[in-house]
Amino acid sequence: MDLFDSNTAERTNLPRNMIENSMFEEEPDVVDLAKDSNTFPAFSTLDPDEVAYEPRSSRLLVRGLGENDMDDDEEDCESSARLLGMSFMNRSSAHRSNSSPYIRQSPPRTCSRPSACTMVVCVLVLVIVASLVMVMYLLPGCTFTRAGCPKSNKTAPLEPVYPNSTNGELFPWAELRLPHSIQPLSYELTLTPDLDNMTFTGRTVIKMSVLHSTKRIVLHAANLNITKAMFKLGDGQAHDVTVLEYKPRQQIAVKFPEELKTGQQCVLIFDYSANLSHTYDGFYNSSYTDKDGNKRVLAATQFEPLSARKAFPCFDEPSFKATFLIRINRKPSYMTLSNMPQAKTTPISNTLMQDEFEKTNVNMSTYLVAFIVGNFTSVSSNATGTNVSVYSIPEKKEQTGFALATASKLLQFYNGFFEIEYPLKKLDLVAIPDFLAGAMENWGLITFRETTLLLDSNSSHLEKQVVASVIAHELAHQWFGNLVTMSWWNDLWLNEGFATYMEYMSLQEILPNLDTGNLFLSVRFRAMDKDALNSSHPVSTEVNTPEQVEEMFDSVSYEKGASILLMLNASLPKEQQFKKGIIQYLNTYSGSNTETENLWNSLTQVSTPPQNISEMMSSWTSQKGFPLVTVSRKGDQVTLSQEPFLLTSDNTTQKSRLWNIPITYVNDSCSLALECRQMYTLKYKTENLKVPESVKWLKLNYKNTGFYIVDYGNDGWNALIEALSKNISVLTPEDRASLIYNIFALSRLGRVPFQQVLHLLNSMSGETEPSPVTEALLQLNSIYRLLDKRQESGLAARMKAYILNHFGSLMKNQSWGEEQSLSKQELRSALVSTACILNEESCTDQAKSLFKKYHDSNFTIKIPGDLQQAVFTVAAQSEDDWETLLELYTATTYDAEKRKMLKGLASTQDPRHIAWILKAGLNGDIIQTQELPLIINTVCNGFAGYLFAWDFIQVNWDRLIEKFPVGSFAIQTIVKSTTSQFSTQAHLDQVQAFFSSLKQRGSQMRSVQEALETIRLNKRWMESNLKAFGKWH
Ligand SMILES: [Zn+2]
Repeated sequence: MDLFDSNTAERTNLPRNMIENSMFEEEPDVVDLAKDSNTFPAFSTLDPDEVAYEPRSSRLLVRGLGENDMDDDEEDCESSARLLGMSFMNRSSAHRSNSSPYIRQSPPRTCSRPSACTMVVCVLVLVIVASLVMVMYLLPGCTFTRAGCPKSNKTAPLEPVYPNSTNGELFPWAELRLPHSIQPLSYELTLTPDLDNMTFTGRTVIKMSVLHSTKRIVLHAANLNITKAMFKLGDGQAHDVTVLEYKPRQQIAVKFPEELKTGQQCVLIFDYSANLSHTYDGFYNSSYTDKDGNKRVLAATQFEPLSARKAFPCFDEPSFKATFLIRINRKPSYMTLSNMPQAKTTPISNTLMQDEFEKTNVNMSTYLVAFIVGNFTSVSSNATGTNVSVYSIPEKKEQTGFALATASKLLQFYNGFFEIEYPLKKLDLVAIPDFLAGAMENWGLITFRETTLLLDSNSSHLEKQVVASVIAHELAHQWFGNLVTMSWWNDLWLNEGFATYMEYMSLQEILPNLDTGNLFLSVRFRAMDKDALNSSHPVSTEVNTPEQVEEMFDSVSYEKGASILLMLNASLPKEQQFKKGIIQYLNTYSGSNTETENLWNSLTQVSTPPQNISEMMSSWTSQKGFPLVTVSRKGDQVTLSQEPFLLTSDNTTQKSRLWNIPITYVNDSCSLALECRQMYTLKYKTENLKVPESVKWLKLNYKNTGFYIVDYGNDGWNALIEALSKNISVLTPEDRASLIYNIFALSRLGRVPFQQVLHLLNSMSGETEPSPVTEALLQLNSIYRLLDKRQESGLAARMKAYILNHFGSLMKNQSWGEEQSLSKQELRSALVSTACILNEESCTDQAKSLFKKYHDSNFTIKIPGDLQQAVFTVAAQSEDDWETLLELYTATTYDAEKRKMLKGLASTQDPRHIAWILKAGLNGDIIQTQELPLIINTVCNGFAGYLFAWDFIQVNWDRLIEKFPVGSFAIQTIVKSTTSQFSTQAHLDQVQAFFSSLKQRGSQMRSVQEALETIRLNKRWMESNLKAFGKWH
């Protein structure tokens, strides 16, 4: 999935879930001894659903304490273990079980060397085993008998607490994750959507295999009214069965009086009806107004992560892969699309046609299933044997050309790069008029927002960059995610980090003029912003609730995931090694599911000379945050030391965490070319390296390909500043941007005085490259906004004057005509936007006159794409032009332009307009609700609207979470936007009080922890810097 806006929205710092962490500190770590069959053969009579996370020794004890007459083998072993106080430390990832709900990434432990940990664990295990033997010896004789003790001996806490089904009967399963005793093999779906009444009926036939004898089948269904269910065992007769439902976990179950035996095959058939969803997930309805002003409806799906269950009963977890055969009954006036090519169309009544799609030739996870009913037109081409088509609503057909050409090119590139052919016969890319995410990688049927797929003939390079990036991301998923899928959402980064990395990598290869390198650099900085907070989380992390699944779709999974892959690739000695490793990984796991360790193992296998990739990379995936590397130098001796870079430090923070850091560095004698780069792996807290004494300065983290921050110390910074003030070109633009990002980060940490930040900026006053300029503008703007919102108007004015002065000549040098070069467009767009937002007169005058010309020409004169945002923003500040812009917004059909108009409208400083636009975004009539996060974000950037927006989300919270799931990226954006500019105790108290009052409706979200931490940091920053700023001249 592409989150959209994650690249474009300016991020300040985001955070994460202390609640989750603390919750699991209380859980015992249980060693999966039973899983390791070499050490402890598993009990053949037990259902592996339970065995998988059960310590064998505790099992003996549990049976002894209260072996029960439940034939269905389900003690709550985790709680048994807890009861017995068994807390084995350091559960190794090799022992981690897929099915365990307690998939815990080995957390950062205090043992710094594995051998020490192993010893502690061994001693602990020995002690525990010895005590168990003693306990068993002391227990009554019935302990070791199959019959067990009399019932009176049964202790209540050992039974899993089965919930009640909706019909009052006991529901036979008590976990969020499904049991693994049944494996779905194939699904046959027949759906009849009624777009007039916004309902649908369906029949789902699931063929399954019994992996382990069991008396129940448990699967997912949500909001489906099941009218009939039948079951068939082997070649037997189908008969009606009762379906039990447990709504809070969206599970249904069928119980059987006799065991289904291992190896048997069976079939479940469900008939059901449901409403088409009014949100953006499941089988949902979307609508748009066509060019004649008529409302047109369509229905589309968005299943990732947890919504396939809203369209059909299914085993809705990524590791339950199966084949799918889909049929859709439709009115003749509509068309349908699904993952596979259409096989046949047959009339089934006077008013209905049935489209049947080919059965999938691959096993796939439920979240990748997709179907669409509507009216679309398409353009197609053939790319190495695959039929590639781009679909849009009819009036936007001419906007599909770029997407078709780019998708075809990328498909060929990936076919060659991965050395595995795209496995389906067709690939459709569809622009859906109302769609929340940026895009979704459904196999063979990728769905997009219109903005991320369609381009009109006048589109700017920056708009092309967005479209190409999203297509590249989704196409990469066809291998990373679709062909090889993470076993569970805790490793979502295997999908998203990879797709994000491949998106930049592939475009640098095939469309270098789109300059995606700068974009990738800036998203790496934003990922660090978030990961610098205590509330961040490891790339691969615990996920146990639906909200936590939603929350995995964040910049840690996406951008940090991509960043550490870049770091790894850049540090491998041979150029092709990374590629070889991922080809090995894709081949080994094609069609199946993986965990993070599988990827590192594949990369280790192909490494020459042999290198333990796993050892290096697990320090980056299993612990949150990233290191701060401090450099100090005496003569030829350079001391490097590492510590966690933490903006918030408290007693619970582990300061002893270490990373295996592939350090790169250049110096004054050779600093630009790749060949200048030297490498050093920093594994311990402090290490030394030698450089010639003649070296004047060192710059670490060449081109910022590593995920760490560097502090050069006072002397080191001064040497760099001196070198830059003589000649800015001694470092690459990426390195200059990296220095700017680093020094602002260090100043937030209190390591470097703000004065030093200004020294560095002043040394780069001749800077004209987009990366360093945009990074400096972003950092300064965010300080300006904080001062402004804090109503420190004097200081805000001084900051504004600094920005306008420092970048003044560069701002004035920008032309207002068409500009061809993408890097010049990037630069101009950032400079002009800032100047106009800060009300710099010549900028606002130019913008106003350009809008007037545009208006006078009856909107036929084109405003250059990269200037549109600034022009619309300035126009929206006048009453008349705001109204004009709103009319234009409703009339425009080109979505990329429409969004810029909307951003302009939302940047109004008129309170009435602000109130109106927030409400319109929520209502979804004039402005589609998909845009609400963008509206809120824009309103919050302005001075007049941020308190309004905070008020608005408090009043409308329930409606917001009706539209956007709790924890989703949209909600994360909304929470962050409305709170990240507060810096006072009073606001901190308000935010805390509001979110804690939400309880189930969002109080436990990681983004709430992020928000609180960010406000505290803002407050601290203000307290320590306001005085210094007061003296600033
Ligand atoms: Zn994705």
